[in-house]
Amino acid sequence: MTVVNNLKNIFEELPEGVKLIAISKTNTPDQIMQVYNAGHLVFGESKAQELIPKYEALPKDIRWHMVGHLQSNKVKYIAPFIELIHSIDSQKLLKVVNKEAGKNARTIQCLLQIDIAEEESKYGLKFEEACEMLESESFRSMENVEICGLMGMATFTENTDQVKSEFRQLRQYFDTIREKYFAGKPSFKEISMGMSGDYGLAVEEGSTMVRIGSAIFGERDN
Ligand SMILES: *Cc1c(COP(=O)(O)O)cnc(C)c1O
Repeated sequence: MTVVNNLKNIFEELPEGVKLIAISKTNTPDQIMQVYNAGHLVFGESKAQELIPKYEALPKDIRWHMVGHLQSNKVKYIAPFIELIHSIDSQKLLKVVNKEAGKNARTIQCLLQIDIAEEESKYGLKFEEACEMLESESFRSMENVEICGLMGMATFTENTDQVKSEFRQLRQYFDTIREKYFAGKPSFKEISMGMSGDYGLAVEEGSTMVRIGSAIFGERDN
């Protein structure tokens, strides 16, 4: 099965300690089950409305990650089960996640999505906005979210120097934020960067989590 071979090849390339999130958006439950049956249990989706039915249909030991833009009004549906939200892109969203996590008597792990790409991007915090948020009273009163690191997406370009320097930038932001706001907190440790086309570069720049879709499941139509 090609999906399983793809998965194997990626694992052979990834250094130990780098976690693989299999991005299953647009793929069917059957395709997901091929990867699941090969022993991989961590999947990511970019839309809540696609994630929810898959969560309901598939085995409950799958660990689901949310990697795309999350609307505040969808948080309540994923709060009971989501393992990690990679895409916190506003303080308002984090507040809602904190509230819904509380209702479920749990702590939800989150990454702050930082805008590192040169191209105009719709989502993501500027580094300065992330710092402002981490310094705010409102953030400090949130008891049901745990910030575990940063996420970013590089510009979609063939220019590998540019992609590399954007990943390096994210790594530097990570180091700065860890030192300033999370000293002595080992749970702040993840840098989620790298997709099918650029995960090699991301790993070279210190990624701890790669989010890979098409290199496992094949090209998507959209
Ligand atoms: C789709 C998606 C990915 C995976 O993209 P591929 O190029 O298919 O590996 C990773 N991260 C996010 C946020 C995505 O939306």
